[in-house]
Amino acid sequence: MDNQETSNGASIFEKIIAREIPATIVYEDEIIIAFLDIRPINKGHVLIVPKKHFRNILDGDEAVLAHMMRTAKKIAQAVMTAMKADGVNVTMNNEPSAGQEVFHAHLHVIPRFTDDGVFKTMRNGDYETGEMERVGKDILDALQESGS
Ligand code: AMP
Repeated sequence: MDNQETSNGASIFEKIIAREIPATIVYEDEIIIAFLDIRPINKGHVLIVPKKHFRNILDGDEAVLAHMMRTAKKIAQAVMTAMKADGVNVTMNNEPSAGQEVFHAHLHVIPRFTDDGVFKTMRNGDYETGEMERVGKDILDALQESGS
């Protein structure tokens, strides 16, 4: 059993959508629900979650993903006001290597404050000579193969 799966196999977020476990809900419509993250990176950290299950951006319905991002704008503005934040991150973790722990898609809306010191582990790297062009071509080829 996945560590974020409940005893009947539903993810913790499906339990919140079904009102089987509590959450501090800040927004809801027919397609999505948004509630406070129980372990916030900063206070006011909101999760935007589709009601219909999909795992992450890789298998998600495009219209639902677009609606999640549209709503993220409104929630980001509200979080900035309510938390008197200086900035906001909108992020999505997709698969365990990218930090995903709950395998029901969600966007994070995280208020940020000047010098709050979070996200210290992110770092930038470099390319070898010619490598950037090769990587760009690999991605371009993959997009063409998928018909995008
Ligand atoms: P991720 O690492 O992107 O999968 O993020 C999962 C997030 O869900 C984490 O930030 C958790 O703190 C949050 N989380 C887990 N359980 C709950 C819960 N019951 N209510 C609210 N947030 C939760």
